[in-house]
Amino acid sequence: MVLWICLLGDLAPHQIPQYTNPQKNTDDRPTSPKIRRLPLHPMIEQRPLKIYNTLSGKKEEFRPITPGHIGMYVCGPTVYNDVHLGNCRTFCSFDTIYRYLLHIGYKVRYVRNITDVGHLTDDGEDRMAKGAKIAQLEPMEVAQRYTVGFHDIMRIFNTLPPSIEPRATGHILEQIEMVQQILDRGLAYERNGSVYFDVPKFDAENAGVYGSVSGRILEDLYTETRELKSQEEKKHQADFAIWMKARPQDLMVWNSPWSVGFPGWHLECSAMSTKYLGKTFDIHGGGNDLKFPHHENEVAQNHGACGCQPANYWVHTNMLLLNGKKMSKSDGNTISPSELFTGDSEHTSKPYSPMAVRFFMLMAHYRSTLDITDDGLMAAEKGFIKIMETNRLLQSLPVNARDFDGSETEHDRAILSLIHEAYAGMDDDFNTAIAIASLNEMGSFVHKLIHQQLAISEVSPWVIERMKTIFSSFLFEIFGLADESATSNDSGTVEGLMNLILEIRSQAREQKDWGTSDKIRDALSAAGITVKDGKEGVSWAKA
Ligand SMILES: [Zn+2]
Repeated sequence: MVLWICLLGDLAPHQIPQYTNPQKNTDDRPTSPKIRRLPLHPMIEQRPLKIYNTLSGKKEEFRPITPGHIGMYVCGPTVYNDVHLGNCRTFCSFDTIYRYLLHIGYKVRYVRNITDVGHLTDDGEDRMAKGAKIAQLEPMEVAQRYTVGFHDIMRIFNTLPPSIEPRATGHILEQIEMVQQILDRGLAYERNGSVYFDVPKFDAENAGVYGSVSGRILEDLYTETRELKSQEEKKHQADFAIWMKARPQDLMVWNSPWSVGFPGWHLECSAMSTKYLGKTFDIHGGGNDLKFPHHENEVAQNHGACGCQPANYWVHTNMLLLNGKKMSKSDGNTISPSELFTGDSEHTSKPYSPMAVRFFMLMAHYRSTLDITDDGLMAAEKGFIKIMETNRLLQSLPVNARDFDGSETEHDRAILSLIHEAYAGMDDDFNTAIAIASLNEMGSFVHKLIHQQLAISEVSPWVIERMKTIFSSFLFEIFGLADESATSNDSGTVEGLMNLILEIRSQAREQKDWGTSDKIRDALSAAGITVKDGKEGVSWAKA
């Protein structure tokens, strides 16, 4: 970034890319300091962002409720066992979406919850309590263990932490309040201490809302809904519990106006998204498998409590397959993240690095099914190594402004057009596959320049600089990749150390201890690291 800003200063005024993002923000609410906001050349100016909205079944132009700001809620993991690879795909996909929204200049509040109570199994038992009984642990001990494990995996995949990560057990009061609001509006009823959402009554008053996420017809739901233990208490089969009266064996229970019990699983996301993002917010995401019943019931609850749609855009990621088949533990067709990383699986011939796996996920659009095969992973690994090598070569290209006569060459236009295509891909429902294809085509220019099949004077210096900046921005900031060879598989450590050093430097500057501050800057400079103080905070770059 530092290099890029310095070089911009050397450009003639007509060459300085103009940035006219109408959604530019003026407040200083913190967002991730890792994501820089780039001025764009007019040729690659931001087009309208289009997002496929499950509610309408088509791509729509994205319009945030508050210009420049986005509220995004993604359903997080249920922490009763290790996170599975399908979940990793969902969270990596939303991480890329989050990163891109930050990159193009939005302030994003990204909320991803931790479900640590209320997720019922088919036999009506809380999954947290069930996990606890099996392992002879306290339910919160189980939740803590798997929350830590989940965070570890997310860090290994190099995902950014969400802005807020609320836990269901920390929001019982909000959930009780929401149950009361739904009761007050006459859309729920109490039976023996449990409270059920009255789906047919809701449907009669809000035609077309129930079924809008999953596309299911209410009549089908009457016959499809699986029998739960509490079925006999409900007025209708399609009704669902928003508060459950505890049974003697239930471990996680709270007082409520109706009984000692616990909230229904769907309620936590309605209550926590409302608390942190408002009654109606911009984007709600999750895996395809959550459309029904979870998201359908969430919409009903929010409508039932406040009379409005919770999110304007519903975004769903598609499923992972393994060798063309749905993953299933019972028939052995499954692979965990750690089995992928260690190679300890009958389905793979070797270990694959987390970044190769992340690149593999990026090679498919998030709405396509993604089939994990050993061949596919091997191809992704090769592609990942190649694109990283291309970036290293690109960054090493010399730029000699003296050779430049100020005209725009045909190669300039071709490269700018590829940059345009990369952004166009991302603006078209976050199509990472198209963006990667554009970067790879840019790579062929890089290789020609490196091997002198194309003279460096044939490309304008500022276009080369632009390509350097945008190529690395896509790889590291938008795609969330890390150069494993350059960092000896330890990019997280370097990042952590740099954060620590910059924190010490900030404290020194706050205390006007310029001696320490300068000493740190000089030592980093000697190590080839440049520190830049900007409006968005402190950033660093390798020279
Ligand atoms: Zn949810």
